[in-house]
Amino acid sequence: MKKIAVLLRSNTEEWLRLLRAALPQHIVVADAAEAADAAYAVVGKPAPGVLAALRELQVVFSVNAGVEALLESGEVPGGIPIVRMADAGLAEGMLEWVLATTLAWHRNLFAYREQQLQGIWAPLPEALARDRRVTVLGAGHLGGRVAAALAQIGFNTRAWSRTPKQIPGVVSWAGDAALPGAIQDAEILINLLPLTPATENLLDAPLLAGVAPNAVLINAGRGRHVVDQAVLDLLDSGRLRAAVLDVFREEPLPQTHPFWRHPGVYITPHVAAPTHASTAVAAIAENLLKFESGAALRHVVDLSRGY
Ligand code: NDP
Repeated sequence: MKKIAVLLRSNTEEWLRLLRAALPQHIVVADAAEAADAAYAVVGKPAPGVLAALRELQVVFSVNAGVEALLESGEVPGGIPIVRMADAGLAEGMLEWVLATTLAWHRNLFAYREQQLQGIWAPLPEALARDRRVTVLGAGHLGGRVAAALAQIGFNTRAWSRTPKQIPGVVSWAGDAALPGAIQDAEILINLLPLTPATENLLDAPLLAGVAPNAVLINAGRGRHVVDQAVLDLLDSGRLRAAVLDVFREEPLPQTHPFWRHPGVYITPHVAAPTHASTAVAAIAENLLKFESGAALRHVVDLSRGY
């Protein structure tokens, strides 16, 4: 019987219960003393030294899709594969959040709310989705699903990724050289990239200067993708109409940060796609059982790419 160590900072009881139900042939523990001979670890941001103490560790399962904190911490022993979270719940949650924010801006809901508070009845120009240019940065588990759904609604949708994609209704742009073209004249720019050395600070002033006047930036990737001052300057100059931000360089966002009080910034507290233990455990269990039957692990982080 192989052992699974659950090394989380919250919700541990729920994860233990669900993992024990999904993997009855395994021993699932949370206690550090019992975990020493665990073959698998389920982690978020493990405390220093916790993973190094697991002498028989074979695989690390991350409960997060973004693994930059895990990689930067250096806590995962060399040679141990890291599996990132890529479950149904994350994809569904992200789809809901991006559609909610995209449609709210597409149909001017925030502007009408402001008009309402001033007693103003003033219809604004209302475009059809087919006439709205939307670009999604990242076309993987989350971005691919989001781009497909936006295209299905009718948005004029482009997606940018490292390698070309075939997503129905979506124009695929791939590679560094294609980035300016992919975002050129975008009216809604949605970031769903992973944070890697290649994507950090990608959304800077020169790049963002390429979007359409009055564009809306929607960031649910990571805060470090965005140069904060560039976003503030572009909002002030009117190039950007709004920035809808779920993720930040420092979380919680410090009270002194200008994003809090800028009229063009709309904040959600890193809730676009929280990990749901039920769907996450189902994904881990399926992957783990196939691995034990001899199949290759799915969603293994490529350390050379950082995602
Ligand atoms: P995936 O690994 O499935 O997809 C990543 C996508 O980004 C791929 O299409 C990949 O291209 C592309 N990409 C990566 N690096 C580059 C690059 N240098 N140039 C061009 N394209 C690149 O990740 P997920 O979709 O599962 O998650 C994406 C990110 O979303 C996470 O890393 C995390 O930061 C964020 N996230 C945020 C949440 C929130 O609540 N705000 C919740 C969950 C995730 P290719 O396909 O060619 O490899």
